[in-house]
Amino acid sequence: LYKGFSDEEFFARINTNIEILELFDEIKNKANRDYLTGLYNRRYLFDYGKILYEKYKIEQKEFAVALIDIDKFKSINDAFGHSAGDMVIKEVGYILNNVINKNTLISRLGGEEFCILIYDRNKDEVMNLLENIRNAFEKNETIYKKDKLKYTVSIGCSFEFGENLDEMIQKADVGLYDAKNSGRNKVRYR
Ligand code: GH3
Ligand code: MG
Ligand code: MG
Repeated sequence: LYKGFSDEEFFARINTNIEILELFDEIKNKANRDYLTGLYNRRYLFDYGKILYEKYKIEQKEFAVALIDIDKFKSINDAFGHSAGDMVIKEVGYILNNVINKNTLISRLGGEEFCILIYDRNKDEVMNLLENIRNAFEKNETIYKKDKLKYTVSIGCSFEFGENLDEMIQKADVGLYDAKNSGRNKVRYR
Protein backbone atom coordinates (compact mmCIF):
# COMPACT_ATOMS: atom_id res chain seq x y z
CA LEU A 1 0.00 0.00 0.00
CA TYR A 2 1.22 3.47 -0.85
CA LYS A 3 0.82 6.49 1.38
CA GLY A 4 -2.49 8.20 0.94
CA PHE A 5 -4.50 4.97 0.68
CA SER A 6 -8.14 5.06 1.73
CA ASP A 7 -9.63 3.16 4.70
CA GLU A 8 -11.63 1.16 2.17
CA GLU A 9 -8.54 0.04 0.32
CA PHE A 10 -6.81 -0.86 3.57
CA PHE A 11 -9.66 -3.07 4.83
CA ALA A 12 -10.23 -4.61 1.40
CA ARG A 13 -6.61 -5.75 1.36
CA ILE A 14 -6.84 -7.23 4.86
CA ASN A 15 -10.08 -9.03 4.06
CA THR A 16 -8.61 -10.53 0.91
CA ASN A 17 -5.68 -11.89 2.91
CA ILE A 18 -7.96 -13.35 5.58
CA GLU A 19 -10.07 -15.01 2.90
CA ILE A 20 -6.98 -16.56 1.31
CA LEU A 21 -5.83 -17.92 4.69
CA GLU A 22 -9.29 -19.37 5.41
CA LEU A 23 -9.42 -20.96 1.99
CA PHE A 24 -5.98 -22.44 2.57
CA ASP A 25 -7.19 -23.93 5.86
CA GLU A 26 -10.28 -25.38 4.19
CA ILE A 27 -8.23 -27.00 1.42
CA LYS A 28 -5.79 -28.45 3.97
CA ASN A 29 -8.69 -29.89 5.97
CA LYS A 30 -10.28 -31.42 2.88
CA ALA A 31 -6.97 -33.04 1.92
CA ASN A 32 -6.26 -34.49 5.37
CA ARG A 33 -9.70 -35.45 6.64
CA ASP A 34 -12.08 -38.26 5.78
CA TYR A 35 -15.33 -36.73 4.48
CA LEU A 36 -17.65 -39.23 6.23
CA THR A 37 -16.26 -39.23 9.78
CA GLY A 38 -14.16 -36.06 9.93
CA LEU A 39 -11.29 -38.22 11.23
CA TYR A 40 -7.85 -37.99 9.63
CA ASN A 41 -7.62 -39.92 6.38
CA ARG A 42 -5.16 -42.47 5.09
CA ARG A 43 -3.01 -39.82 3.44
CA TYR A 44 -2.55 -37.94 6.69
CA LEU A 45 -1.82 -41.16 8.59
CA PHE A 46 1.04 -41.98 6.25
CA ASP A 47 2.34 -38.39 6.01
CA TYR A 48 2.24 -37.20 9.59
CA GLY A 49 2.14 -40.69 11.14
CA LYS A 50 5.51 -41.48 9.56
CA ILE A 51 7.03 -38.40 11.18
CA LEU A 52 5.59 -39.41 14.58
CA TYR A 53 6.81 -42.98 14.11
CA GLU A 54 10.39 -41.87 13.28
CA LYS A 55 10.49 -39.48 16.23
CA TYR A 56 9.36 -42.10 18.74
CA LYS A 57 11.59 -44.76 17.27
CA ILE A 58 14.72 -42.59 17.42
CA GLU A 59 13.92 -41.43 20.95
CA GLN A 60 13.00 -45.02 21.92
CA LYS A 61 9.75 -43.85 23.45
CA GLU A 62 6.45 -45.70 23.81
CA PHE A 63 4.51 -46.08 20.59
CA ALA A 64 1.73 -48.44 19.51
CA VAL A 65 -0.36 -49.03 16.40
CA ALA A 66 -3.92 -50.35 16.68
CA LEU A 67 -6.17 -51.44 13.82
CA ILE A 68 -9.90 -51.51 14.46
CA ASP A 69 -12.31 -53.27 12.13
CA ILE A 70 -16.09 -53.47 12.48
CA ASP A 71 -17.27 -57.07 12.80
CA LYS A 72 -19.67 -58.44 10.16
CA PHE A 73 -20.16 -54.97 8.80
CA LYS A 74 -21.38 -56.30 5.48
CA SER A 75 -24.38 -57.79 7.24
CA ILE A 76 -25.37 -54.31 8.50
CA ASN A 77 -25.33 -53.02 4.92
CA ASP A 78 -27.23 -56.08 3.74
CA ALA A 79 -29.89 -55.97 6.45
CA PHE A 80 -30.44 -52.22 6.83
CA GLY A 81 -28.99 -50.63 3.69
CA HIS A 82 -25.92 -48.65 2.74
CA SER A 83 -27.02 -45.48 4.54
CA ALA A 84 -27.31 -47.42 7.82
CA GLY A 85 -23.76 -48.64 7.17
CA ASP A 86 -22.60 -45.07 6.61
CA MET A 87 -24.27 -43.99 9.83
CA VAL A 88 -22.47 -46.76 11.74
CA ILE A 89 -19.11 -45.69 10.28
CA LYS A 90 -19.80 -42.11 11.37
CA GLU A 91 -20.79 -43.35 14.82
CA VAL A 92 -17.56 -45.33 15.15
CA GLY A 93 -15.63 -42.12 14.52
CA TYR A 94 -17.69 -40.34 17.14
CA ILE A 95 -17.26 -43.10 19.77
CA LEU A 96 -13.51 -43.38 19.13
CA ASN A 97 -13.15 -39.65 19.65
CA ASN A 98 -15.13 -39.90 22.88
CA VAL A 99 -13.28 -42.84 24.39
CA ILE A 100 -9.83 -41.62 23.40
CA ASN A 101 -8.67 -38.28 24.67
CA LYS A 102 -4.98 -37.55 24.24
CA ASN A 103 -1.75 -38.82 22.69
CA THR A 104 -3.41 -40.46 19.73
CA LEU A 105 -3.82 -39.98 16.01
CA ILE A 106 -7.15 -41.47 14.93
CA SER A 107 -7.69 -42.12 11.24
CA ARG A 108 -10.04 -43.95 8.91
CA LEU A 109 -7.92 -46.24 6.77
CA GLY A 110 -10.81 -46.96 4.42
CA GLY A 111 -14.11 -48.84 4.45
CA GLU A 112 -14.90 -49.98 7.99
CA GLU A 113 -11.29 -50.00 9.15
CA PHE A 114 -9.64 -47.50 11.45
CA CYS A 115 -6.07 -46.97 12.61
CA ILE A 116 -4.94 -45.40 15.85
CA LEU A 117 -1.38 -44.37 16.65
CA ILE A 118 -0.89 -44.19 20.41
CA TYR A 119 2.20 -42.50 21.81
CA ASP A 120 3.69 -41.76 25.25
CA ARG A 121 1.50 -44.42 26.85
CA ASN A 122 2.88 -47.57 28.42
CA LYS A 123 1.70 -51.06 27.47
CA ASP A 124 -0.78 -51.30 30.34
CA GLU A 125 -2.33 -47.97 29.44
CA VAL A 126 -2.63 -48.98 25.77
CA MET A 127 -4.17 -52.33 26.70
CA ASN A 128 -6.66 -50.62 29.00
CA LEU A 129 -7.56 -48.12 26.33
CA LEU A 130 -8.14 -50.77 23.66
CA GLU A 131 -10.19 -52.88 26.04
CA ASN A 132 -12.30 -49.78 26.81
CA ILE A 133 -12.83 -49.23 23.09
CA ARG A 134 -13.86 -52.85 22.50
CA ASN A 135 -16.19 -52.66 25.49
CA ALA A 136 -17.72 -49.32 24.42
CA PHE A 137 -18.92 -50.92 21.17
CA GLU A 138 -20.13 -54.07 22.88
CA LYS A 139 -22.35 -51.97 25.16
CA ASN A 140 -23.45 -49.52 22.49
CA GLU A 141 -26.87 -49.72 20.87
CA THR A 142 -27.69 -47.74 17.75
CA ILE A 143 -31.18 -46.75 16.73
CA TYR A 144 -31.64 -46.67 12.98
CA LYS A 145 -35.14 -45.62 11.98
CA LYS A 146 -37.19 -48.09 14.01
CA ASP A 147 -34.52 -50.75 14.33
CA LYS A 148 -32.09 -51.43 17.14
CA LEU A 149 -28.69 -52.13 15.76
CA LYS A 150 -25.79 -53.80 17.57
CA TYR A 151 -22.27 -54.44 16.39
CA THR A 152 -18.82 -55.17 17.79
CA VAL A 153 -15.25 -54.43 16.70
CA SER A 154 -12.07 -56.50 16.50
CA ILE A 155 -8.74 -54.92 17.32
CA GLY A 156 -5.15 -55.82 16.44
CA CYS A 157 -2.25 -54.01 18.06
CA SER A 158 1.51 -53.92 17.70
CA PHE A 159 4.14 -52.49 20.06
CA GLU A 160 7.11 -53.44 17.89
CA PHE A 161 8.63 -50.73 15.71
CA GLY A 162 9.96 -53.07 13.02
CA GLU A 163 11.54 -51.53 9.90
CA ASN A 164 8.98 -48.82 9.19
CA LEU A 165 5.43 -47.70 9.90
CA ASP A 166 4.00 -49.91 7.14
CA GLU A 167 5.58 -52.96 8.74
CA MET A 168 4.20 -51.96 12.15
CA ILE A 169 0.72 -51.61 10.65
CA GLN A 170 1.11 -55.03 9.00
CA LYS A 171 2.00 -56.53 12.39
CA ALA A 172 -1.12 -54.98 13.92
CA ASP A 173 -3.05 -56.45 10.99
CA VAL A 174 -1.81 -59.94 11.91
CA GLY A 175 -3.20 -59.28 15.40
CA LEU A 176 -6.48 -58.18 13.85
CA TYR A 177 -6.61 -61.36 11.77
CA ASP A 178 -6.04 -63.30 14.98
CA ALA A 179 -8.88 -61.42 16.72
CA LYS A 180 -11.24 -62.24 13.83
CA ASN A 181 -10.23 -65.90 13.89
CA SER A 182 -10.74 -66.25 17.62
CA GLY A 183 -14.39 -65.28 17.39
CA ARG A 184 -14.32 -61.45 16.85
CA ASN A 185 -15.04 -58.78 19.51
CA LYS A 186 -11.46 -59.34 20.75
CA VAL A 187 -8.20 -57.44 21.14
CA ARG A 188 -5.05 -59.26 20.04
CA TYR A 189 -1.38 -58.25 20.25
CA ARG A 190 1.70 -58.78 18.10
P1 GH3 B 1 -15.42 -59.10 9.19
O1 GH3 B 1 -16.07 -59.34 10.52
O2 GH3 B 1 -14.60 -60.27 8.77
O3 GH3 B 1 -14.62 -57.83 9.19
O4 GH3 B 1 -16.59 -58.98 8.11
P2 GH3 B 1 -17.10 -57.67 7.39
O5 GH3 B 1 -18.44 -57.94 6.82
O6 GH3 B 1 -17.01 -56.52 8.32
O7 GH3 B 1 -15.99 -57.42 6.27
P3 GH3 B 1 -16.07 -57.45 4.69
O8 GH3 B 1 -14.70 -57.02 4.27
O9 GH3 B 1 -16.59 -58.75 4.20
O10 GH3 B 1 -17.11 -56.33 4.32
C1 GH3 B 1 -16.87 -54.99 4.43
C2 GH3 B 1 -18.00 -54.25 3.76
O11 GH3 B 1 -17.91 -52.84 3.99
C3 GH3 B 1 -18.02 -54.39 2.27
C4 GH3 B 1 -18.25 -52.98 1.72
O12 GH3 B 1 -19.32 -52.95 0.84
C5 GH3 B 1 -18.58 -52.19 2.95
N1 GH3 B 1 -18.15 -50.79 2.91
C6 GH3 B 1 -16.91 -50.33 2.66
N2 GH3 B 1 -16.89 -48.98 2.74
C7 GH3 B 1 -18.15 -48.58 3.05
C8 GH3 B 1 -18.76 -47.29 3.26
O13 GH3 B 1 -18.13 -46.22 3.20
N3 GH3 B 1 -20.10 -47.28 3.55
C9 GH3 B 1 -20.83 -48.43 3.65
N4 GH3 B 1 -22.11 -48.33 3.97
N5 GH3 B 1 -20.28 -49.65 3.43
C10 GH3 B 1 -18.96 -49.73 3.14
MG1 MG C 1 -15.13 -55.85 9.07
MG1 MG D 1 -12.40 -54.79 6.87
